[in-house]
Amino acid sequence: MFEKVLIANRGEIALRVLRACKELNIKTVAVHSVVDRELKHVRLADETVCIGPNPSKKSYLDIPAIVAAMEITDSTAVHPGYGFLAENADFAEQVQKSGYVFIGPDPDVIRLMGDKVSAIEAMKKAGVPTVPGSGGPLPADEEACRSIAANIGYPVIIKAAAGGGGRGMRVVHNEDALWKSVQVTQSEAGAAFGDSTVYMEKYLQNPRHVEIQVMADGQGQAVHFFDRDCSMQRRHQKVIEEAPAPGIPDDIRQAVYQSCVNACVEIGYRGAGTFEFLYEDGRFYFIEMNTRIQVEHPVTEMITGVDLIKEQIRVCAGHRLSFDQSDIKLNGHSFECRINAEDPKTFMPSPGKVNKFHAPGGLGVRVDSHLYGGYTVPPYYDSMIAKLITHGEDRATALRRMRIALDELVVDGIKTNTALQIDLVNDPEFSKGGVNIHYLEKKLGLS
Ligand code: ADP
Repeated sequence: MFEKVLIANRGEIALRVLRACKELNIKTVAVHSVVDRELKHVRLADETVCIGPNPSKKSYLDIPAIVAAMEITDSTAVHPGYGFLAENADFAEQVQKSGYVFIGPDPDVIRLMGDKVSAIEAMKKAGVPTVPGSGGPLPADEEACRSIAANIGYPVIIKAAAGGGGRGMRVVHNEDALWKSVQVTQSEAGAAFGDSTVYMEKYLQNPRHVEIQVMADGQGQAVHFFDRDCSMQRRHQKVIEEAPAPGIPDDIRQAVYQSCVNACVEIGYRGAGTFEFLYEDGRFYFIEMNTRIQVEHPVTEMITGVDLIKEQIRVCAGHRLSFDQSDIKLNGHSFECRINAEDPKTFMPSPGKVNKFHAPGGLGVRVDSHLYGGYTVPPYYDSMIAKLITHGEDRATALRRMRIALDELVVDGIKTNTALQIDLVNDPEFSKGGVNIHYLEKKLGLS
């Protein structure tokens, strides 16, 4: 097992990784920006290194600073968490070249899946169902694009191959708007991602977002951990997640699980990963793969009892998976509500000092958060301050526990989206299960 792991992240995920390392008897190094000296995991780590000023570009995204911190502390491996450098192939490569282990897949695999065009191609080859589309970059020819769109059928969506975070996409409803949209998306993609390659897909009108959690050891073994439904989104940002996705026929889900497991073996995947799909009218359509641990991994941990981060660290240290598919059993249902430091109506960030923090508790309640009374939420980073997670023997029980837990939560001093979450978990349609990706924005009057 690794001797010492450097945690190249902050907030709740850094604390989550630190706890997993402690359980595995691994020494920990916390790196942090100036203001993040006060973070909980920094206080709890064996060693700490300040890697730069507050803006992420000068600290958590500064590859030379992080590699230098690994050298100074003689770390064996780096855990990137999610966001920041977690899916940066150049970072993974730098880490490897410097003689350390990147806790994630090989840089080549990150690259393959980071480009959506090559990812879709690889998935098609592996038998994963994809969205009908151009099957490659769009040609620089208006007529050719028109004929591709006509074949797919309107509406279509133009997407940047290098896109991420819900940016670099444009829906086209008819031929008149096509060429202009292709050109605008190309130039936006070039400016935002340094790569103007775009491709075309059928635009699915009312899908759900359903994703499959996988783990692979890079030695020919891969397993899945069922699915999650993350359809409750605002501006492509997930707000509530649950596992398993409600109301999907068993034969359909088993087939897609198997295709994901096969794909992992095919591309030589190692570590934790997620295949994201749109699900509509009983069919799954692959949209992208996340080659890292995700924010919403706890709901899967709650229904399987598996510590995904411990297992991720183990397999990246060269161990075989510690279980077979048949050992992974689905037990009950789980929800996660993301608690953000923001105004519940305007969604404006609300950093500042937390005077009081009371976390809910009880059977089936889990809180992943770096908050404590007296902590000041800085304005420089993502506004998520806590993840409230509940589990129950069935969906109704888990949801009831979430309502109670949200009522118990106290974050005093800053604004949070707790009131919105309370409204959502009491919403009749959401309570029934199976709402689509537009439901939340429609409810909020945003679309
Ligand atoms: P990103 O990497 O930016 O998150 P994705 O490819 O995962 O981009 O797509 C983000 C979101 O955009 C999806 O969750 C969905 O809401 C919407 N979307 C993407 N592709 C399609 C499509 N073919 N049809 C309908 N909606 C889509």
